[in-house]
This record gives sequence, structure tokens and C-alpha cells, in this order.
Amino acid sequence: MTIPQIRQTRQSDSKANRSIEQAAVYSERPLIFRAQTASASVPQILYVSNRGVDGNGFNLSYKVHEEGEDIAAHHRQLEVALGRPLSLVRQVHSSRVVDLDAYLANAVQGSDSHSPLTPSQLRTALVPLATREADAQVTTRTDIALGVYTADCTPVLLVDAVHGVYGVAHAGRKGVENGVVPETVAVMESKGAELTDVEVWLGPNICGNCYETGDVVAQEFAHKNAELLEKVARRGAGFPAEPDAFVTHTRFGGEGIDMRAALKAQLAAMGMNHQQVHDEDSCVDAQTHRELDQASSTEAQAPNNSMCTLENPLLYSYREWTLTHRPGSNGRFISVLMP
Ligand SMILES: [Zn+2]
Repeated sequence: MTIPQIRQTRQSDSKANRSIEQAAVYSERPLIFRAQTASASVPQILYVSNRGVDGNGFNLSYKVHEEGEDIAAHHRQLEVALGRPLSLVRQVHSSRVVDLDAYLANAVQGSDSHSPLTPSQLRTALVPLATREADAQVTTRTDIALGVYTADCTPVLLVDAVHGVYGVAHAGRKGVENGVVPETVAVMESKGAELTDVEVWLGPNICGNCYETGDVVAQEFAHKNAELLEKVARRGAGFPAEPDAFVTHTRFGGEGIDMRAALKAQLAAMGMNHQQVHDEDSCVDAQTHRELDQASSTEAQAPNNSMCTLENPLLYSYREWTLTHRPGSNGRFISVLMP
């Protein structure tokens, strides 16, 4: 399916007479970055963000937002663009996975996990799910979009197109340590996925060169990840990397961690080969450069690494906000898997 183009220009004739305040609202627009997928049979993967380098941004977080931001309006706009209900959970850095099929069968009276449901039934059933504490979702449904909030943590999107099983996970430092991704894969397998058919996309996060944590946190991360690798390793899997591989020396001079490297090691330990894991994205990079070329803001520097939330000024970054407290930069973006 195609995503309708819903970008709005800031000064169309029809809006010329609106007050400045209203015009500011209308300048908010989502930037939809499409991840590169190998074939049309693979579901769409979208990163929806706009940190607002050139006007108001498109924050999607009810938890962190600034006065005057209409988050509900942003969600409505996003759902129109997606053309189907968006499923979200309350993320708490755990390894809890929601089986969305079972959840919906329970939430909609008279249905089972294979029942067709109307968009209205889905929307109503998903409202309470947004308050349930979990960090991953798995489904076999193709009438729903799975979403993950992030701003530096890693959005992980998992697809078994052969068996029709889909999952998303929120993996920040604690989520990586807690093994949210291996848990998600396990739930996918319980619903018919085969490990050799699962493809994984690691969405934009703060990179190892930027994510400075100090040596205590970095060493603890490396230690916990090494323990987890032993726990999730399966027969015949590649030998897990040395723990030190996940500790970095950042561009700020201190020790940090590389969440992507740790996640890739977990997937390898489980038995996935590197061709199943999509780590970089030339589509996101190309679009980022196009958007920034058009922006009038002098802050709009082209990033070295477009997949790094701290470096890419179009993506929300919690670290950027804590460093600068720049107005409008406190927010979350959503990564979406459309089965
Ligand atoms: Zn970076």
C-alpha cells in the first residue's frame, strides 16, 4: 500500500489569514522515513519524527511534551497517514512482551485471535493497551500497525514474512540488558515464526560514538550483556563477541556503550546470521540530507551518521535535550511496523 503524502507547507494561500498562533500549529508536520526493505513482500517500516529544526516539531509523546503541543492531534495525523490503527504500549525498560492477538481476543467480546475486527473495534480495544506496562508486541494480524516510542533507545522491528509473524521491541540500555529482543523472538517462535526466516531492523538510536555513560555503567552493561549472551546462545550459533566489544570510547572522551553491537551479538548468539539483521539504512540517510538541504535553520547540519539520534537533528534525542534544553527538542518519535 502507499502512504498518503500528508506534509503541509507552512504558508499556503488558504492559511494566509490564520493567526500566527494557528500558523505555528500548522507548521507541525511528520517526517516519514521509510526503511529500506528488500522486496515488496516485506512489510513497511517507517520512522516518524521531526525534532523541529525548522519550525515546530512532530513530538508524539504524551509523557514528555511542552506546553501548547497538541500530541493527540499528532497521533490522529499519524494514524491517517498509516491508514490503520496504531498499537502502542506503556514502555518501562522491561522485557515484557504483549501477545497482541491474545490481547485483542480477550478485549473484544465474542472474538478469537483470528477474528477479523473493524478499525473501530481495534481502535477501542487498543486504548487501554497504551497504559499497559510492556516493551514489546507480537502479532500475526495484518490490519494493524505496531509502534515503538524512542529518543535514543533502539527501536527493533522483527518480521517473519514467510510465516506471517511480526514483532516490535523497545531496547534501551536496560532493555538490551534485560533481553527484551530474545524474549520477543521467543514469543514470535511460539506463534509459528522460524528463526531462520526472521529479519530484524535496528532503527535509529544513539550510536556507540555518542552514547557516553561513564566507565562504571559501560562495564556493567558489558558484564550483563555477556551473561545474557550465554543464556540465549543456541547450539550452532556464532561464538558471542567479547564483552569489551560493547564498550566504546566516545567522541566526548569518556567510555560509552554500543547498543547496536550488543543487540547484534544477541541475535547472532540466538543463531541469526548477519544477513538477517539490517543495521544501516541508505534511504534514511538520503532523505535526511534532502530534508536538511531544504531547511532554513542554521542548526540543520548534515549528520555523519543519520541513524544516530544525537547526530541527526530530525530525530528526537533524549541526550540532546538533556545537554541543550533547546525549546521544542524534548520529545519522542515512533517507529512503525506495518505488516
Ligand atoms: Zn552518534
